[in-house]
Amino acid sequence: MKKVTLHDKTFALSIPNSEIQRAIDTVAAQISKDMGTEVPVFLVLLNGAFMFAADLLKQIEKPCEVSFIKYASYVGTQSGGSVSELIGLNTNIKGRTVIILEDIIDTGLTVEKLLNDLGIKGPAQIKIATLLYKPDAFKGNYKIDYVGISVPNEFIVGYGLDYDGLGRNFKDIYTLCETC
Ligand code: 5GP
Repeated sequence: MKKVTLHDKTFALSIPNSEIQRAIDTVAAQISKDMGTEVPVFLVLLNGAFMFAADLLKQIEKPCEVSFIKYASYVGTQSGGSVSELIGLNTNIKGRTVIILEDIIDTGLTVEKLLNDLGIKGPAQIKIATLLYKPDAFKGNYKIDYVGISVPNEFIVGYGLDYDGLGRNFKDIYTLCETC
């Protein structure tokens, strides 16, 4: 079994790139079919979704817009608490179909916040596409329209996902291995 070490932890290969690509082909075909003749706005949630977005969007052979968004955390000067602000949304989404591209949905809280932050901007509809989904951890109260691969509730890296800044560049996905 192929292994990688990042900082103090070892990870074992769990999802090879060939399986990731097959899942992406399926999601891309579903999205293309559902799009019809509509021109949606894809919103790529950085940093993790960059690799998924690059491979998925190449398979969407119809006109679409693509924008990259991110949550920037900073310590608020007034409240003293940590504030997370959505940055990078420079496309007007009023009346548009928005498709969020996310790397992984775990508890679902990040996408729930994003749905609220985008909802006040008046889109016609918001759809969600995630490469990876942890059903045993999900606490959200919304529908996920497109799921690439459901995974166990374990910590994974690679294909955009990092451990403390490392591992995003790997083409395969690796699972934290406590006994390696
Ligand atoms: P949620 O808000 O759904 O709990 O978490 C979403 C975010 O947490 C993801 O975008 C990702 O950044 C991070 N995350 C959740 N599970 C994992 C994991 O197994 N590995 C890594 N590297 N990040 C994860």
